[in-house]
Amino acid sequence: MRAGPSQEDIRRHNLGALLRHVHLGGPISRAELTSKMGLNRSTIMALTSDLTAAGLVREELPRETGRAGRPSLVVRPESARVYVFAFDVGPDRLVAARVGLGGVILDRRETTRDRGTFVLDELAGVLSGFARQMRRKTRDDTVCVGAAAAVSGGVRKGDGVVTFGPNLMAHDVPFGEELARRLGLGLPVSVGNDANLAALAEHSRGLGVGVRDLICLHGDVGIGGGIITGGHLLGGFDGYGGEVGHMVVNPGGRECSCGSHGCLEAEVGERALLELAGRFGPGQHGRDAVRAVVDAADRGDIVAQEALSRVGDWLGLGVANLVNIFNPEMVIFGGMLREVYLGSAAQVRTRLALHAMAPQREHVRLRTSALGDHVTLVGAAELAFAHVLADPLEVLARVSS
Ligand SMILES: [Zn+2]
Repeated sequence: MRAGPSQEDIRRHNLGALLRHVHLGGPISRAELTSKMGLNRSTIMALTSDLTAAGLVREELPRETGRAGRPSLVVRPESARVYVFAFDVGPDRLVAARVGLGGVILDRRETTRDRGTFVLDELAGVLSGFARQMRRKTRDDTVCVGAAAAVSGGVRKGDGVVTFGPNLMAHDVPFGEELARRLGLGLPVSVGNDANLAALAEHSRGLGVGVRDLICLHGDVGIGGGIITGGHLLGGFDGYGGEVGHMVVNPGGRECSCGSHGCLEAEVGERALLELAGRFGPGQHGRDAVRAVVDAADRGDIVAQEALSRVGDWLGLGVANLVNIFNPEMVIFGGMLREVYLGSAAQVRTRLALHAMAPQREHVRLRTSALGDHVTLVGAAELAFAHVLADPLEVLARVSS
């Protein structure tokens, strides 16, 4: 017979769960924690004492209670003290941020990058340099508890090696390992696919909070997908699940970077839209270029309107397939797809009405990301916090030693 969880396992689980409440929900009273976690008052008191002693949270008297009697202490994350490094390798920019417990962006650095290259030395060099700059500005009592990066590409489960991507020339790039080596913090750097991390961000802090079945479609040069079913991110056998950008919607269609034809990203991606709008050319790329097409369509530009309508048709077809298969409660469009959806919502909805089955279609909500351009960085930060939220005291003991 298998033994049940030990007292120590339960305590570890509860410490993580309490810290997660404070991290995601912000300051919360002991009384609320007691009711939300379904534990008794003395257990909550013991758990918060442990986390306070470790320097992860602090307890304060509430400013105003409005009630008679002894007020319940409020538990706050030690956002200025406990932080992670979050990195975002986008097609056109590199971002590094120091993010405090509770999700506060404490410091941030950004630079542009050239498309079409993924030079490991260069990327890891720039990002670790940013991290060093930010670290020099921190107080002595601060502690880094994790690091993670979002990349637009396939990330192998287990070792975080980047194996394919629109900008990847070499195969099997050990990006996380190299970045960890250069950071020299004694911490691993977790690596995640940008669309998967966008889904994690929406689920943790965006429109998807409390939504257990959620699909994020994230577009930059290509289109990625993050699929959350039953509250869990779908990873697949090797970690490459959710590559909805390569779902074929038009078999005789445009050539795709993957070698196939008529993939969603070939028909809906940035290049397709700009070409159809007669705006593809040197220097014409990125979200500003996509936004310019949507703006032109709003002003009555017929070519831009037709381009959006065509792209919206394919996007709607892709969404209809996803709705039929996964029965999501919500689909969120992020990155450049945010603009595309705003400019083509009518076509997307028409396709959905035509091709999605009624029971799945009726409840699905289509939304644009509320986290905007930060979404992948926020997702990377959440990935970086995952270890400390799973086992707060073990991680803290390790990084403090
Ligand atoms: Zn493809």
